[in-house]
Amino acid sequence: MTAPSPPRFTTRIVHADRWGGAEQGAVHQPIHTSVQYGHARVEDLIAVFQGTAKGGFNYARQGTPTTAALESKITQMEQGHGSIVFATGMAGICAVFLTLLKAGDHLVVSQFVFGNTNSALGTLADLGIAVSTVDVTDATQVAAALRPNTRMVFLETIANPGTQIPDLDGIGALCKQHGLLYVVDNTVASPYLFRAASVGAGLVVNSLTKSIGGHGDALGGAVTDTGLYDWSGHPNIFAAYRKGDPKGWGLQQLRKKGLRDMGATLSSQAAHQLALGAETLALRMERSSASALALAQWLEQHPAIARVLYPMLPSHPQHAQARRHLRAGSWLLSFEPRDPAQCLPLCNRLRLPIRATGLADTRTLIIPVAHTIFWETGPAARAAMGITDGMIRLSVGLEEIEDLLADFEQALAPA
Ligand SMILES: *Cc1c(COP(=O)(O)O)cnc(C)c1O
Repeated sequence: MTAPSPPRFTTRIVHADRWGGAEQGAVHQPIHTSVQYGHARVEDLIAVFQGTAKGGFNYARQGTPTTAALESKITQMEQGHGSIVFATGMAGICAVFLTLLKAGDHLVVSQFVFGNTNSALGTLADLGIAVSTVDVTDATQVAAALRPNTRMVFLETIANPGTQIPDLDGIGALCKQHGLLYVVDNTVASPYLFRAASVGAGLVVNSLTKSIGGHGDALGGAVTDTGLYDWSGHPNIFAAYRKGDPKGWGLQQLRKKGLRDMGATLSSQAAHQLALGAETLALRMERSSASALALAQWLEQHPAIARVLYPMLPSHPQHAQARRHLRAGSWLLSFEPRDPAQCLPLCNRLRLPIRATGLADTRTLIIPVAHTIFWETGPAARAAMGITDGMIRLSVGLEEIEDLLADFEQALAPA
């Protein structure tokens, strides 16, 4: 007799709630709206306060049974040690920066990060945390940026909108060698396409608003501890949280300082919507990745298109990295018309893609990049990120690929 194989991705995600114990046999996790949680004996309340109880709730700013169920679902996806959910992806990212770094520390960041993350880095610099931005497609550039006070390296699996793929394992090896906390924003790829622990990430960030929630109807964020980073070597853990197994220290500090004190708590209602969306993550990622690849291939051979950026195209600069690490290329696809003056008219001629910001909705979304999401950054920063004036970003949805191709065909037909 061979041992049964462990349940695979979607099997784990749709059953994770019940493994934690189902209330009244509920097939779906109930929505808990209570802010206060009472206990039969005051000793039980004390145990929750002192962190000696396994689980247990006291005040909803630190979590409810509904947010805890979503946390365990995210942990199952990343196969990590534990997770904390936040009101938005940005709340999770800022909690990581503001509670695990302090004045005098140095942070190395990808030069291709999400625009609002980039904006938040300016705030860190004002708080006395030095920031170096580097081209993370080359691990030697990260190595060259390291200083004695470097504490953390932060990057994104698939950058938006340029789709750059970092030297994920090269940087992982570097972080391990220097005892640095390696933080991977896995929002675009999602834990279905890429498991950040496989390249040595200590923390994984996911904006639940995007791939995991997937329906454009709720904001949320998550930070997962993979269990790979040795927190006993991190100088910024407060004495109060240096208790018990060091594996739990990082999440303890993030929950108390990042969630409880800063207060960007995910509501139970939003957690429920995100958990429901999460159940179909693998199905949606397979569908949207297949459509995005077909569209990328079609656009690449079209005479009116100058350039297509998609990790699963052999022409992509980091195609080998993408093939090695990613199960598929995701819904994110950028391209440039040969005539930059066609950028806006082309967006207007398309009938199916919705002219809107946002990512990973069920519908295809389209946006001209330089005029909108990277307007505030200015031309110099756009150039450093490889963003041209005519660049168009697509977040490919769940429509039938034949309909999408037909729409692009009419929009690109010579007038
Ligand atoms: C959208 C996004 C975020 C921020 O997430 P919100 O939930 O919108 O706050 C962070 N990182 C990446 C890569 C994103 O695309």
